[in-house]
Amino acid sequence: MIYRVENIEQTRALAARLADTLVGGEVVVLNGDLGAGKTTFTQGLARALGIEERVPSPTFTFMRHYRGRLDLYHYDMYRAQDVEELYELGLYEPIGDKDAVCVIEWNKFDDLRAPIVVSLIGVGENEREIRIDDPRGLL
Ligand code: ADP
Ligand code: MG
Repeated sequence: MIYRVENIEQTRALAARLADTLVGGEVVVLNGDLGAGKTTFTQGLARALGIEERVPSPTFTFMRHYRGRLDLYHYDMYRAQDVEELYELGLYEPIGDKDAVCVIEWNKFDDLRAPIVVSLIGVGENEREIRIDDPRGLL
């Protein structure tokens, strides 16, 4: 489904709608250029999972873990040079965890099973086109 949002709040609200359908074990891949709103979307999703902490970009650590109604593993692989290193660091281990949701910016794993794919495109200062390809057929 393709959604059109006009501001940050609507991006976060759409992310919250997605969050409300999550039961654990899902992987959400976020696509889009720098500044498209991937981290903003993740923040809306985190809030809806009951995570009250700030959710900054995990750019330098590749991944951050939060506890909420479901655990959230927030990945950002933008600066990952070596995909093998991600596996060696154990970063693949949370993928598919039944009590968690994994949200990935700049995905470099090539063996994700049936991820929910969210693609954000800037169409103006605050407008975004957000396409959600949901293999569950819910959104
Ligand atoms: P990314 O993680 O894709 O690089 P961020 O979420 O970090 O992007 O940044 C998005 C930027 O765009 C922020 O500065 C945010 O304030 C701005 N922005 C403006 N309108 C929107 C919107 N509708 N949705 C998301 N971000 C928006
Ligand atoms: Mg980001």
